[in-house]
Amino acid sequence: MVIYLDNNATTKVDERVLEAMLPYLKEDYANPSSMYEFSVTPANAIAEARGKVKDFLGAKNEKEIIFTSCGSESANTAIKGAVAHNKGKKHIITTKVEHPCVLNTYKYLEKQGYKVDYIGVNSNGELDIDELKEKITDDTALVSVMWANNETGVIFPVEEIGDIIKSKNPETLFYVDAVQAAGKIPINVKDTNIDMLGVSGHKFHAPKGVGVLYVKSNVILPPLIIGGHQEKGRRAGTENVPYIVGIGVAAELAQNALEYEGTEVKRLRDKLETGILKRTYNSRLNSSINNRVPNTCNIGFEYIEGELILLHLSDLGICASSGSACTSGSLEPSHVLRAMGTPFTALHGSIRLSLSRFTTEKEVDYAIEKIPEVIDEIIKISPYQNELAHLRERANKGK
Ligand code: PLP
Repeated sequence: MVIYLDNNATTKVDERVLEAMLPYLKEDYANPSSMYEFSVTPANAIAEARGKVKDFLGAKNEKEIIFTSCGSESANTAIKGAVAHNKGKKHIITTKVEHPCVLNTYKYLEKQGYKVDYIGVNSNGELDIDELKEKITDDTALVSVMWANNETGVIFPVEEIGDIIKSKNPETLFYVDAVQAAGKIPINVKDTNIDMLGVSGHKFHAPKGVGVLYVKSNVILPPLIIGGHQEKGRRAGTENVPYIVGIGVAAELAQNALEYEGTEVKRLRDKLETGILKRTYNSRLNSSINNRVPNTCNIGFEYIEGELILLHLSDLGICASSGSACTSGSLEPSHVLRAMGTPFTALHGSIRLSLSRFTTEKEVDYAIEKIPEVIDEIIKISPYQNELAHLRERANKGK
């Protein structure tokens, strides 16, 4: 039995997505760029997928959509392309809580002589917009801010940030990592000051290995991958037709499921969260209550180890994670929770639970029953018995 509560790490491929992909892995396998009739079907399928993704993101036209291999490639293309586009400008602004595919690209650029400012967040994980505003100068080549955080689900006001950037420096480009927003909240780049935006198929029920980079039509970016003329010369490499078809269908399905995400997925997430918080006296919510995507919750359990919680949950078939899939596995506490000033007592004992439209009430009920039992078991072997006794007393008084 698997209770999959790690949908921010990856999601299950929707059956309808798989069905739509299969013909392009079997009979319609032609290279879409070839000249013969056999290539027409795959070429048309790419065009159709591009139209679906355009609608999903609210882009003005299909030319603004570039297919990539993943969210990391979209971020790399946008960031490295933007600084090349804004040659001469040496300043970049981002946040302390971005995904490693963004943060490590900036570490790389710092070594090339760029100055990067990392904007902080408050204890709810919300961005300090005033700090960001103050940092924008004539020398700012690029600002990049994620739409929703992968660990906490907290949403940043990217439309407002876009307006601030352009009012201070119209030449500064703005990249939005929307990997964790896509399919969870509406995305509409039309009439915003977002120049580039990245999404990743495997976070909304397409397979791993396909992503999208939206680039506003007036922004000319040099390609990251140089080679053939595919994607109008902006991303070389023979098009991954089945996966592109897959992300197109997944985008359409995600668009149609947005209301369900905002109501039913949210209801289940809230039920799971309050169920766990109520039944565990050493727990705290590691984020803003309201300002988040509807599927994510991040709970800190004081004075116990997150890795131990995950191992116990795994024995019960429950898949959860601590931090991002990329940082779990190392024992470093999450850079996101550290930026939020999460007390060290809860820093190591935090877990992320993330739902999807496939999560059932039964699964949530099982998790609400089992997770507090696991926490109670681990509390028994914690070396912090006095501190835990204090917390228990405080919680009892509060009742
Ligand atoms: N950005 C965010 C916010 C993410 O959560 C992830 C993946 O977890 C990525 C980017 C990278 O996406 P991909 O795994 O498709 O490279």
